[in-house]
Amino acid sequence: MSKRQSRFEQGDDLVVMKFGGTSVEDDAAIQRLISIVESRVGSQPVIVVSALAKVTDQLRDAGHAAAKGHLGSALATVRNIYVRHEQLADSLVTGAANHALDHELRAEFRALESLLHDVEVSRKLDLKTQDQLLGFGECFSTRLVTEALCQAGMNAAHVDARSCIATDARHGQASPLWDLTDQRLQENLSPLLRAGRVPVLGGFIASTEDGVPTTLGRGGSDFTAAIVGAALAAARVEIWTDVDGVMTTDPKLCSDARVIRKMSFDEAAELAHYGAKVLHPATLAPAMRANIPVYVLNSRRPEGEGTEIVAGANTGKRISAITAKRNVAAVDIEFPRGMDSELLGKVFAVFDQHSCLVDVMGTSLGRISLLVGSTAALAG
Ligand code: ADP
Ligand code: ASP
Ligand code: MG
Repeated sequence: MSKRQSRFEQGDDLVVMKFGGTSVEDDAAIQRLISIVESRVGSQPVIVVSALAKVTDQLRDAGHAAAKGHLGSALATVRNIYVRHEQLADSLVTGAANHALDHELRAEFRALESLLHDVEVSRKLDLKTQDQLLGFGECFSTRLVTEALCQAGMNAAHVDARSCIATDARHGQASPLWDLTDQRLQENLSPLLRAGRVPVLGGFIASTEDGVPTTLGRGGSDFTAAIVGAALAAARVEIWTDVDGVMTTDPKLCSDARVIRKMSFDEAAELAHYGAKVLHPATLAPAMRANIPVYVLNSRRPEGEGTEIVAGANTGKRISAITAKRNVAAVDIEFPRGMDSELLGKVFAVFDQHSCLVDVMGTSLGRISLLVGSTAALAG
């Protein structure tokens, strides 16, 4: 048994590394990704990548345009996405591998065009079709990153996340079927890891038990990384992004935001839940269950310490961080004759039907205050 194999069986040096959109956005970003992964080859890396920056939004816009009958504009948008990937392929990958990659990217592009034609004919973009559409971003990016890693001398292997991450059919915001997902991840990844290969999976994308494409909600690649980490009993999950770690507030809103060096799963989960985009809100749950430390790190400054998220840590501050949410509405519902559980059930059923995410902010005898955001709004 090789050293690597025995190490993997213990899971004690397996590291899941997730690279977000800005960490794969262009040639320089992918070169940085390559050297960051190279710095971890002493461990056993498993790579999770998002779509290139802005691509998921562009796919969504193309879908909406096609649904309105503006097929020309939809096709032009996806052609730009395709050309962007082809240009990167040409600068990162040479020779026969470039040929093979070109073939793969072209096949994805043709499938994408064909889906937009269908959307134009049906004149609607439901959440099910939208999941299929948005997933193309990760299909393109994973092909590119896998070949770029191979070109740099690493034995990378593309793994279709949709055949590993199984979810329910709640399109736009699906939840994992945990046992099946763990089983599929182990079955698909263990042989690769034993062979010393570096698996590359798309974040965010998944499928129902019988193979219908789903997504884990916008920003869901972080969640994928934690799901993979838990299934493989990883030693750590690293979230590589465009900021120095989890900060006291969104640095885009407040220039003197500071990095939080260490925090607990609970604190980080709370912050993510209330809008800190740096982590998808569901990310910490599987990591917490499997007690796997999560690190948030800056791919533009890989030497930084980042944020360490572990059990039992505490920032020790009375106020750790401040966060804000977009695309939400505060809703107050009055019950003039007192809180009526049946009526309340009906209200929540309506929110559910429209895929709304609901937070209860407060209740009193005759009133409930909610914060409501919709998956459709978040995706659109
Ligand atoms: P990625 O594409 O790597 O997943 P995201 O854009 O999803 O990156 O998340 C990183 C962004 O999260 C940062 O650029 C920052 O603007 C935002 N953000 C919001 N709240 C926080 C916070 N408390 N700490 C750090 N970043 C935050
Ligand atoms: N590409 C997806 C999104 O933009 C998932 C992710 O970035 O985490 O939402
Ligand atoms: Mg993100």
